[in-house]
Amino acid sequence: MFSKIVIANRGEIALRILRACRELGIKTVAVHSAADRDLKHVRFADETVCIGPAASTDSYLNIPAIISAAEVTDAEAIHPGYGFLSENADFSEKVQQSGFTFIGPNADTIRMMGDKIQAKKAMHKAGIPCVPGNGDPLGDDDQTNFAMAREIGYPVIIKAAGGGGGRGMRTVHTEAALIGAIALTKNEAGTAFGNDTVYMEKFLEDPRHIEFQVLADSYGNAIHLGERDCSMQRRHQKVVEEAPAPGITEEQRKKMGERCAKACQDIGYLGAGTFEFLYEKGEFYFIEMNTRVQVEHPVTEMITNFDIVKEQLHIAAGEPLSVTQEDIKIVGHAIECRLNAEDPETFMPCPGTINQVHMPGGPGIRCETHIYNGYRVPPYYDSMIGKLIAHGNTRESAIARMNTALSEIVIDGIKTNIPLQQKIISDNAFAAGCQNIHYLEKKLGL
Ligand code: ADP
Repeated sequence: MFSKIVIANRGEIALRILRACRELGIKTVAVHSAADRDLKHVRFADETVCIGPAASTDSYLNIPAIISAAEVTDAEAIHPGYGFLSENADFSEKVQQSGFTFIGPNADTIRMMGDKIQAKKAMHKAGIPCVPGNGDPLGDDDQTNFAMAREIGYPVIIKAAGGGGGRGMRTVHTEAALIGAIALTKNEAGTAFGNDTVYMEKFLEDPRHIEFQVLADSYGNAIHLGERDCSMQRRHQKVVEEAPAPGITEEQRKKMGERCAKACQDIGYLGAGTFEFLYEKGEFYFIEMNTRVQVEHPVTEMITNFDIVKEQLHIAAGEPLSVTQEDIKIVGHAIECRLNAEDPETFMPCPGTINQVHMPGGPGIRCETHIYNGYRVPPYYDSMIGKLIAHGNTRESAIARMNTALSEIVIDGIKTNIPLQQKIISDNAFAAGCQNIHYLEKKLGL
């Protein structure tokens, strides 16, 4: 096992990684921006290095500064968390070239999965069901493009190969709009992602978002930890996640989970990852793979009683998976509410000083947050300030516990989305389960 690692992130995930390290006896180096000296994990870390000013381009995205921090502290590995540089193939490559271990898959895998066309082709080859549409880059010949759309059937969606964060996509309902939409998406993609390659696939109208968690080691072993339902979204951003996904049968879980684990073996995947699918009318359609730990990993940890972050560290240190597929048992149901410093009506971020915090407790409640009394939420980063997770023997019990927990939380001094979360968790349609990815926006009248 490593004796010291750098945590190249901030906020709740940095604290989560630090706790896993402490449990394993690994010393930690917290690299932080000048605006983040007061972060909880920075105070808990064995060593700290300020890597630049507040702007993330100068600090959390500053590759040379992070690698220098690893050098001066004699660390052995770097954990990228999620967001920031976690899916940056060049970062992974430079970390390895500088003699450190990148806690995640190798650069080639990240690069392949970062290109939607390449990822779709690789997954298709590995037997993962994909959205109808061959995924080839679209050329300039209008007749060929018309023919392709007719074969797929309208509506279709034009997607940028290099797109991300829900950007670089355009839905087309009629033939008259097709050519214009291709040109516009190409144009935008070139400007936004530096790559104007676009492709076409079927637009699924009312899907749910269901994703499978996987773990793979460097000896060719791969397992899945079941699925999560992340259909409660606003602007393609997840708001509430849960596991297991309502209505998914044991048989579906086994079949899709095993396919995902097998795909990991086929592509030589290393570490923790997530296969994201759209799920409609009983069928799964691959959309993308996240090559890192995800915000919503705790719901899976709660139902499997398995520590995903610790396993990432074991795998990166060259150890084999600590469990086999047969060891993974799903018990009960877990729900996660993301807590954001934002106006619950307008969704505008609300940074500022938190006067008082009171976090809820009781059976099955887990809080993942870095905030504390007097903490100042800086305006420079994502507005998520924590996550509340409720676990129960049944989905009803998890919902009831979440409702109680939300009513107990006090975060005084800034606006938060807790009123929005209460609205969702006490909603009858949410209680019924199986809502699609448009449900939340419709409910909110957006
Ligand atoms: P990103 O990398 O930008 O997150 P994804 O490919 O994961 O892009 O897609 C983001 C979201 O866009 C999905 O969660 C879904 O809501 C929507 N989307 C993507 N592809 C399709 C499709 N073929 N049909 C319907 N919705 C889609």
